[in-house]
Amino acid sequence: MPIKKNINHPILKELQEVADFTAKFLGINFNPTVNIRDQQKGRTDSKTKSVIIPLWAINEGDVYAWAYTIHEVNHYACNNWGHSKSFKDKERRVLAEFNLFPVYKKAYACELKSKSGQTIWKQYW
Ligand SMILES: [Zn+2]
Repeated sequence: MPIKKNINHPILKELQEVADFTAKFLGINFNPTVNIRDQQKGRTDSKTKSVIIPLWAINEGDVYAWAYTIHEVNHYACNNWGHSKSFKDKERRVLAEFNLFPVYKKAYACELKSKSGQTIWKQYW
């Protein structure tokens, strides 16, 4: 499979700010670089200390793109690639800083709500 190129998307700067905030909030001692690529899966690349956000996640809207970025950076905070209860607890704490409250389906948030319970984003797949 050919290596996908980083996309210079207008939201990139904002997502980098979200990643920087998340890293600081969770006590990570470096700022992961955010990259956007047209690929199926997001990931953390510990070799380059970066997170890769798939283009489809950006196309879900800004709020979901923030949440996706927080999720990937949180993997560095937890120092593993699983989705344990403590992983989700940390993710919840960061999302709350953005006034977002997740509903989980297995590993991932399937819905993001406001504090008052309104749906901000919902998974339709
Ligand atoms: Zn994950």
